[in-house]
Amino acid sequence: MLTANSRSTTHAIELVYPDDTPKAFHLLAKPTGAACNLDCAYCFFLDKALLYPNSKFRMSDTVLEQYLKQLIESHQTDRVTVAWQGGEPTLMGLDFYRRAMALEEKYRRPGMTFLNTLQTNGTLLNEEWCEFFKEHNFLIGLSIDGPRELHDIYRLDKGGRPTFDKVIRGLRLLQQHGIEYNLLTTINRVNADYPLEVYRFLRDEAGTDWMQFIPVVERINPNGRTLYQKGNTVSERSVLPEQFGLFLSTIFDEWVRNDVGRVYVQTFEAAIRHWMGLSSSGMCVFNETCGQGLAIEHNGDLYACDHFVEPDYLLGNIRDEHMIELVASEQQLKFGADKRDTLPQYCLECDVRFACHGECPKNRFIDTPAGEPGLNYLCAGFKHFFQHIDRPAKLIVDVMRRGRPAAEVMQILAAEETILKAALAHANRNDPCPCGSGRKVKQCHGRAKPPAAPHKPLPQPQRRSNVVLEIVG
Ligand code: SF4
Ligand code: SF4
Repeated sequence: MLTANSRSTTHAIELVYPDDTPKAFHLLAKPTGAACNLDCAYCFFLDKALLYPNSKFRMSDTVLEQYLKQLIESHQTDRVTVAWQGGEPTLMGLDFYRRAMALEEKYRRPGMTFLNTLQTNGTLLNEEWCEFFKEHNFLIGLSIDGPRELHDIYRLDKGGRPTFDKVIRGLRLLQQHGIEYNLLTTINRVNADYPLEVYRFLRDEAGTDWMQFIPVVERINPNGRTLYQKGNTVSERSVLPEQFGLFLSTIFDEWVRNDVGRVYVQTFEAAIRHWMGLSSSGMCVFNETCGQGLAIEHNGDLYACDHFVEPDYLLGNIRDEHMIELVASEQQLKFGADKRDTLPQYCLECDVRFACHGECPKNRFIDTPAGEPGLNYLCAGFKHFFQHIDRPAKLIVDVMRRGRPAAEVMQILAAEETILKAALAHANRNDPCPCGSGRKVKQCHGRAKPPAAPHKPLPQPQRRSNVVLEIVG
């Protein structure tokens, strides 16, 4: 047991940490709960309002102080990440965050520093917000789903109006103020068909060098809602497994030839870390175990994970028990270990398990070919992606092990392609392919490329209520 005194009014309290207590962890705070000014069709969090009927969804000053005090007390490291999320966290107003900064200072231990992060849809940002972010070195995550015609399909406001222009205005403000930011793009059934359009937009037009792709997998609960991680069917907005694999592979091919060392794509960096043999990829979904990425609701309820804000995964409330007791509870340790311990045999025998680890448990709701439950819905996509990047990933690791910058892989691949092109120019269709695949030229690099499939016409912007009705019906 911990001896944390959660009701202490000073920060000089005695905490005794058992060995298995995490020294640091990641906690997403939701000061506005599920409240948001937008109504994105696929948002998994908007339904969470149903968990707190009649709530105003505003973190009180009492909960705010307990949250920050306990977060700081719970860390055995000098660096503490304070992560603000929602809903839309800017709805709390700037004064809330000014009070938060004062509380961080109040409870800060000597030598301790903070990294405040805030995930936002960007539509409410203005000069004042940006000056504040700059002053306190916030790292901002901005949600954008690609170019206008892709972004505006699902990311609409409450009136069903598109939001692209407002998001771009927010992005430009962040850039003008020199604020550190990254872009988060959710990959759905529509934009997944446009990998290069999405990637090049983010890189060249949005102008970012840091991007994150999150697959939309919305499980339809037996009552037709998407409130819980239950049910084994997905909404029509959800990305398809093979589609997601192809999306990642196509972007990887562009990245590994042009942008290594220049553009940071979170999934690629995580994968390379696994190829390097590191134990942590930096992304919980691709680690062997998890359980150190929790979520705290506006009223102090602490949940196992942002994706499991539901009654079965409620650990307790920080007004009743100290946060570290909940973070280090048996329930939470088991939650994290289950990611590894519940893998089906199919995953245990998989050649890319070292990189995938069955991805996130929230997506494990299909059966393996042998009929065992618990396989990841996105399995086919991850298998394709990780197998696809095997050789270039090994090349990158090899370059780095020789003490050279990873970007050198681009020269190696370009040189290889020049040599291959020259060899192909002199090869007959029935010769062994000069790439070394063992296949004939005509079955390998000499195969006529199928004409590019014409893109499907883009659907009309989809409001959340419309789409849910379609699913229920
Ligand atoms: S449940 Fe998924 S998102 Fe949550 S901590 Fe585990 S791997 Fe990460
Ligand atoms: S690729 Fe599929 S089989 Fe392999 S570890 Fe991932 S989910 Fe399991």
